Formats: sequence, structure tokens, C-alpha cells
Amino acid sequence: MQEERIELLRPQMGTSRALTVRRYGKAETGPKVYFQAALHADELPGVITLHHLEALLKEADAKGEIAGEIVVVPFANPIGFTQYVDMKPIGRFEMRSGENFNRHYPDLSAALIEAVDGKLGQDADANVKLIRAELRRLIVKHRKDISPLSDLQDLRLTLAELAIDADYVMDLHCDWEAPMHLYISDHNWPDAADLSAQIGSECSLIAEISGGNPFDETFTRPWVELRRVYGDKFPIPMATLATTIELRGERDVYDEYAIPDAANMFKFLQRRGVIAGDPGPLPEPKCDATPLSGVDRVMASHGGMVVFAVEAGAKVKAGQELGYVLDCETGAKTPFSSRTDGILYSRIGIRLIVPGGYLCSVAGEKPLAGREGQLLLSK
Ligand SMILES: [Zn+2]
Repeated sequence: MQEERIELLRPQMGTSRALTVRRYGKAETGPKVYFQAALHADELPGVITLHHLEALLKEADAKGEIAGEIVVVPFANPIGFTQYVDMKPIGRFEMRSGENFNRHYPDLSAALIEAVDGKLGQDADANVKLIRAELRRLIVKHRKDISPLSDLQDLRLTLAELAIDADYVMDLHCDWEAPMHLYISDHNWPDAADLSAQIGSECSLIAEISGGNPFDETFTRPWVELRRVYGDKFPIPMATLATTIELRGERDVYDEYAIPDAANMFKFLQRRGVIAGDPGPLPEPKCDATPLSGVDRVMASHGGMVVFAVEAGAKVKAGQELGYVLDCETGAKTPFSSRTDGILYSRIGIRLIVPGGYLCSVAGEKPLAGREGQLLLSK
């Protein structure tokens, strides 16, 4: 294992922040896997999962069982780690700009299409090598093109540079109150069905473009667009699997979850030939993929206290009362429901709600009217 500390751009006099990066295995000897946790800084289930996964990786590395390289960024957001208001961590948005830490990542698709023009051939492996080399070059160029660079942009670019040429990009997040679920490109599906089954995902949401340029799409979109332009003439595999894994809810920081979750990610890598050893039989999948455009975001029409009637993870019906918002001044109870049958896979973690405030999400099997463009929640 090699450990590196990457100093980030100093945002202010007297301040400094750094990313810890640990590398297992050996670069250029096989697939490259990239893990990060807590890009939204207060989402800690991924941090404890990587803590346990790294113990397994260390052992496998010592035995020479890792083919290729596994890069781990155990906590990806030192900026967000120090943001608190009224004793509550604020990890989703940067407080200075108001920007979501998991949006505004570079889309290198157009530059890549131009860069490989005239260079692709009939050897798929050679094409993948060429494309990865160009992606490495383009992300460095992209950094040079941004001037001046803020510490937030530096953080985003540093993470993107670490993952840009990976075969697997695993971005570990969590929801407020939720069962295990994941987001992935529809171009990575059904390839990723084994990952979904192995980690016990209860809701696997697919979309080509979810809106706002989240981290994971930086690594899949260039392949999708390249295949669209050149795929008829040249063999270009969908060479990168990138996913956002939501390790349940923000308070689900327990060894009881994290140890099996780490073991499941280790088994997935064994199944994919990154780590030696038998992963055992693939567990029965808990869900099939459903479209992100089939998610109904249920919002509050009135202010008040939310009183949920169903748990996160429940299967619900369209029109079923999922809870109500209580206005204790008027006594008014406003029930809320979803437009679709499906799994209630996300529930807000607070109980004091304003009109237009987010309540919960239900994932149905079919796209819903009006669900296009910005498919993820908030900017
Ligand atoms: Zn998150």
C-alpha cells in the first residue's frame, strides 16, 4: 500500500486542506478501481465501509492477490468537513458558493471526440488505451483552462484526475433515511446487475444523463458519446463502470452494516477478476433496474410537521397515504402520496417542512410525465 497526501489549493491565509489517497496493488498491471467516500461531507456510512474494505485490501495486497490497482480516497471532501451551523454539519453544499459538492464536474465528451478523430482502429484494447490516455491529457488541460481556480474547483478536479482512467468508479454516498440503493448510467446496465445484487441494492436507478454533471457521469459520459459518434466504425467498449452507491441513511453508521457492505464490495471485485479468490454465489437480486425518470419526488404543499406513515424501503401504491403534514396553528392535516407504485427509497431526515420542501421519493417502473432534464434532487 502506498499513501499519498495531496495538498489542495489554500483558500485563505492560515488555512490548508489535503486529501489522503491510498493505493493497493500495482498500476498498469490490470484494471484500475477507484473508491471515494463522503463527497457530501456529512455522509459517513461510506467512510466506515471503506475503513473496513481497506483492511481487506491491505491483506489481499500483502498476499499479492490484487491484479491492477485499487485507489481509495477515504474521505473526499475536507472543505465540507469543517462546515457547521448551529452544531449541525453542512456537507452537501459549499457554504460560500451554495454549490452542491456533487455537481459541476467536467464533461470531457466533446473534447474527447475531437481528440481521437483519425486515431481509432479495429483493436478494441488499443482503442481503450488511446481513449484513456486522451482522457488523462484532457483533464489536465481542463485544469489549465480554468483560471482562476477556487479551492472547490481544485477539489473537484483533483478527484476527477484520480479517477479519470479507472475501469470502476465507486462513489459512496448515503441518503437521509433510505435502504441500500444506487445510481448508474443506463449504458452500464445490465453489466452492473452483479454489483447491484452483491451489495443488496433495493432500488437501482438508471439514466444516461441525470442533470447537473454529478461526479460519476464524468467517467461514463465520454464513453457513451464516443460510442455514439464512432461506434459504427470502430470497436469501443463501455470500458468504465461508474456508480453512486447510497449506503442507506445518514445515521446508518454501524459496523453491522459496514462490515458486510465492505465484504460485498470485495466480492464484487473478486467476481470481476480484480482480486483473486472465489466470491461465492451471487445473491438473488433484490430489485431490477428502474428509470430515474420514473422517480416521483413528493414535495410538501404546506408548511408544518411531517408525520410519515410508511418506512423508508416500503413498497407503496400510487395514491396511498404516505404520511401527512400537520399545521398545528390551524389543525390542518395535509396527506401526501406518490403518483406511482414503487419503492419509497428516500425519506427526508428532518420533520419540520416548508411549502415546496422535499418529503420523499418513490421509484416506479415507468418514466413519469414531466420528469426530464434535471432528474436529481436540487442543484
Ligand atoms: Zn451524497
